[in-house]
Amino acid sequence: MHTPGFLLIGGPTVLFDCGELRWISDPTFDPPTDYGLLRKTQGPAVEVDDLGPIDVALISHHDHRDNLDTLGLHVARGARHAVSPHHATAVVGEHAFGLAAGEHLVIGGVTIHAVPAIHGPEDGARDERGFVNCEVIGFVLESDTQRLYISGDNTSMDIVRDIAERFGPCDGAIIHAGRASVPSKFAGQPLSMTGAQAAQAATILRARQVVVVHNTQWVHFTEGPDDTYRAFVEAGVGDVLDTTPLGQWGTWRPNPSD
Ligand SMILES: [Zn+2]
Repeated sequence: MHTPGFLLIGGPTVLFDCGELRWISDPTFDPPTDYGLLRKTQGPAVEVDDLGPIDVALISHHDHRDNLDTLGLHVARGARHAVSPHHATAVVGEHAFGLAAGEHLVIGGVTIHAVPAIHGPEDGARDERGFVNCEVIGFVLESDTQRLYISGDNTSMDIVRDIAERFGPCDGAIIHAGRASVPSKFAGQPLSMTGAQAAQAATILRARQVVVVHNTQWVHFTEGPDDTYRAFVEAGVGDVLDTTPLGQWGTWRPNPSD
């Protein structure tokens, strides 16, 4: 039997198991492409044709190509269900459920909580809908045996603290780091967590295992996996960082109380 786990595909994209379901988060599958503002330098570690059936595609935001690209949208549309911010459902497809931070829904016995995320400096200018950069949601998934946090593009440690307080310790966390930076946005200030912040988040969440994504394959990710690893070791949480390479299945660490 397949041991429940996860497969890093590159950028923010992870194929993973939770409950009885197969999930994908922020699907990106385009080959190396220059999109103008953003440039992708490597293709996915797994091709679309090799993915197999997907139960749920989670989309933190559809506005940016490094979170949802052309082939990624095709994958999201091919999943049985998709979950995204409300205003993204029109793009993602008729099978998409919209969620705003604070809302939840249940699919196949797994509760999907949408949680807030701030995609830039906390004091950054807000758009007309009140969001820094754009609306982004993170996710907390709760199955019978596992609690997973998927951060989406977020820089706010206060949000992570609120999530830890509300939900309790995480079994696993998929954290978008890479210290994304684009000169034209907020004067190049980080749009996603640094490795040091991801390590801090791991501590706050009391996470047993952390998978850091959103730090490969794109020019605007200014910190890579080596920076992330160093930051976790320096923060004294090197043991919770999973280092399974892109394109290989890692396994969720079993709950010691099970
Ligand atoms: Zn983004």
